[in-house]
Amino acid sequence: MSQFWSPFVKDLVPYVPGEQPKMTRLVKLNTNENPYGPSPKAIAAMQAEVNDDLRLYPDPNGDRLKQAVADYYGVSTAQVFVGNGSDEVLAHAFHGLFQHGKPLLFPDITYSFYPVYCGLYGIEPKQIPLDENFQINIADYAREKAGENSGIIFPNPNAPTGCLLPLAAIEQLLKQNTDTVVLVDEAYIDFGGETAIALVNQYPNLLVTQTLSKSRSLAGLRVGIAVGHPDLIEALERIKNSFNSYPLDRMAIAGAAAAFDDREYFDDTCQRVIDSRDNVVASLKQLGFDVLPSAANFVFARHPQKDAGELAAALREQGIIVRHFKTPRIAQFLRITIGTDEQNQILLDALKGL
Ligand code: PMP
Repeated sequence: MSQFWSPFVKDLVPYVPGEQPKMTRLVKLNTNENPYGPSPKAIAAMQAEVNDDLRLYPDPNGDRLKQAVADYYGVSTAQVFVGNGSDEVLAHAFHGLFQHGKPLLFPDITYSFYPVYCGLYGIEPKQIPLDENFQINIADYAREKAGENSGIIFPNPNAPTGCLLPLAAIEQLLKQNTDTVVLVDEAYIDFGGETAIALVNQYPNLLVTQTLSKSRSLAGLRVGIAVGHPDLIEALERIKNSFNSYPLDRMAIAGAAAAFDDREYFDDTCQRVIDSRDNVVASLKQLGFDVLPSAANFVFARHPQKDAGELAAALREQGIIVRHFKTPRIAQFLRITIGTDEQNQILLDALKGL
């Protein structure tokens, strides 16, 4: 801490990202990246952008990417926002769409960036407990008084549990809550969920965010999107243009657009991850683990007799990194990203010996 820090920075509690080790021989199953590479068409599109035009600023609106997203989801480009990773898109939503000074509702076990953004933007967090099966129960949100909240946010599937809220429940939540924004963070939706983008034309207070870091295997490129009513998108654009007019560089716009266009590669790699996940779940259960039902590219599992912290440390000694959460209710869980079948087998063999 320095004398030059403002009191605001002194009080900030920032998000701590999962470890990104420098060694490449590790079996890295800790930050939910995709084990398969990005679409070859996306790589070619990015390579084509590496030319003399890099001396010029990129398109501030990322129109080529907005069009690809609009085509993919059958919406208009005015309903699409693009940003530098969905973390940035979420930050703009916290900044510009949730009413400051009122509590924002989100699950008590969820993505740990939400409380951080609450701190950054002066929004009061109000965490709603998951039920005894670690599921979001929308009846608990209905009990909150309408008009007294700044909005609702949750990932679907939830993170780090992997549990999915069906679209019908989301629609019910939207009917209960018409006064403030409901943000559905669909970072992992492509691994078995149904997107709430289908509902954006009916519910002007619904914003859906997605990332290209997971199902489109472009975590290193940093691209996220939001889809919702043009008025919500306009608010995000205002925030963006007051912060960084060019969040996406030329490679990112071209690569992300090509990734949306290459549906075949996307469908194929998502299906491979889903098939592998189902095998990993079955094998973990055989090893005695309790595994929550996952619709994501990771599983959340605990062993009734074995300490999760010790398991994570022992795996790490064998070069296998998984995520261990230390908060009281989930301290016995490991969150394990689905890797290639070879990586998954290394993990399962290691767990057999522990
Ligand atoms: N939402 C959730 C639920 C996540 O787990 C992540 C990834 N850590 C993100 C958003 C952010 O993804 P990105 O910034 O890579 O788009």
